[in-house]
Amino acid sequence: MMGRQTVIRGGLVLDPQGRAAAQDLLIEGGRIAAIENPGFEVSDDAELISACDRLLIPGLVNSHTHSHGALNRGAVDDKVSLEMFLTGGGASTRSRGVEDKYLSAALSAAEMIRKGCTACFDLSVEFPEPSRDGVSAVARAYRDAGMRAVVAPMIADRTIYQALPGLLDALPEGLRSHYASLSAAPFERTFEVCRDVLANWEFDRRQIRPALGPTIPLHCSDQFLIDCARLAKEHDIPLQTHLAESRAQATIGRRRYGNSLVGHLEDLGFLSERVSVAHAIWIDDDEIKKLSQSGVRVAHNPSSNLRLGSGVAPVRKMLSEGITVGVGTDASNTSDGQSMFEATRLASYLSRIDGFAADEWISAGEVFHLATEGSAKVLGFEKIGRLAAGYEADVVFLRLDSPHFVPLRSPLIQMVFGENGASVHTVMIGGRIVFRDGKLLTLDESLLRHRAQEAAGRLDQANADTYASGAAVARLVGTFCAAQGCTGHALPRKLSLVCAG
Ligand SMILES: [Zn+2]
Repeated sequence: MMGRQTVIRGGLVLDPQGRAAAQDLLIEGGRIAAIENPGFEVSDDAELISACDRLLIPGLVNSHTHSHGALNRGAVDDKVSLEMFLTGGGASTRSRGVEDKYLSAALSAAEMIRKGCTACFDLSVEFPEPSRDGVSAVARAYRDAGMRAVVAPMIADRTIYQALPGLLDALPEGLRSHYASLSAAPFERTFEVCRDVLANWEFDRRQIRPALGPTIPLHCSDQFLIDCARLAKEHDIPLQTHLAESRAQATIGRRRYGNSLVGHLEDLGFLSERVSVAHAIWIDDDEIKKLSQSGVRVAHNPSSNLRLGSGVAPVRKMLSEGITVGVGTDASNTSDGQSMFEATRLASYLSRIDGFAADEWISAGEVFHLATEGSAKVLGFEKIGRLAAGYEADVVFLRLDSPHFVPLRSPLIQMVFGENGASVHTVMIGGRIVFRDGKLLTLDESLLRHRAQEAAGRLDQANADTYASGAAVARLVGTFCAAQGCTGHALPRKLSLVCAG
């Protein structure tokens, strides 16, 4: 049974090459059945959707986010580096009940849809340890929002104080014993939960799939990483981790492993085509080659990298080596939002700051490909990220009367460099309209807002002591990490100049 046909008529359709042409889309069973010249014949009972004065683009795909960050919007201070953020991280997800976890993911999904994103890879953390109910709550939120997602519990068996050798010694004695006594979720318990989640996945895998997210290699023991890779292979699911996001991670990794981060992961047998790495900023040419040879994909997060001052990822080099790169927003508490349009634009603009020859820059067409088909490969969804027959009907309708489209000359450039999400008029996911004319049709956003404000007050109060002690130690951690890596192995790119000067 084919089911009822839907036809989107009158729109300007952006093709995978970035060209826009007046075409109609025929949708059957949630997929694009055909893209034809305007006015082609359809069955009498077909549902007609007008896309008059709209640019139709594939839904953007967010290759790296953390839904737990949405409930912490506004809680991360200005001038906070990655390790300073991670130091306070414990406080940010404490005291949450299952419904808080659902709420945070629902808020995140609502923002992504509003801003033209139809699928994401979510590394979601729970404190003090992952739970089947928690992972399920996050997946439920995406299901209810009508969005596609890969949901990975973010896991580790070390605290940041155990992960970074020398860090505890750098703390004053009064603080040291407290932070030395902290421990991560027990190894066996974490795997027990993950095995349970994977064996009992209750969601339609066409929409929502499970994965594993060993958070940061340094925060995981070797055995933990090996077991993650083994479990992922057993269940044929993706794995995502944060790689060399900060200079401190790269230099401390070299000290701890006597090897580069990528070299160490390769030795462990961790790298494969099912692995994606977020950030990958502080990696050298040899590591880029190794990632390429292993088929590892990269999630590039320019907005978060700028917000936390992490650095500039060598994306052009990755692409030249044949690595698949996607674009991500990272969490709403490290990039202050889930705007894939913004992340995509920044990914292109950031490629220009080194002053390389213009033909090395990442073009509008190229970056749009990364934010759609590149990210889709990071998620492991084969049929999303482009408007073409056989692909899922994940379609974003942009208003062409928005200022940056007037006058209309180059839809692709005007969209990639000018769009901020405000032109999103309609969002269709799997043939179902989930957002139209300013209104999310799947979730009650005013109720979400009310509940979010209530939760923020309650959680801030419950976590006040942890926030206060986290803030006190964050500065010390920031200073410690900033001092790492200014000597020793050759630093990538221009940061060596900063350190020398
Ligand atoms: Zn992240």
